[in-house]
Amino acid sequence: MSMSSQGKEGNYILVVDRSYPFFKDRKIIVMTEDKREEIRVPDGLIVCDICNAEIVDEKVMLLCFEDHIWGVICKRCRENYYPDFEVRVKKEIEK
Ligand SMILES: [Zn+2]
Repeated sequence: MSMSSQGKEGNYILVVDRSYPFFKDRKIIVMTEDKREEIRVPDGLIVCDICNAEIVDEKVMLLCFEDHIWGVICKRCRENYYPDFEVRVKKEIEK
């Protein structure tokens, strides 16, 4: 396994299908001056957690730090901010 220059073992991009359970019942948190609001994201709508661009591809990239999913990342943000992160494709879970 090659180590990237940003090089930590648990940091990588995980590629999953849109049907991945992570995308079910998502909420985004909107902070305004005096309150914090949770907005439910409709199933089927996937947006980049960095730039809020809608992701329409069948495969979606998740940004992972230390083996924990941080959030969704679009291609452009990956290229801009995390070009050295290893890309791993999640194998389908056997049923
Ligand atoms: Zn983005």
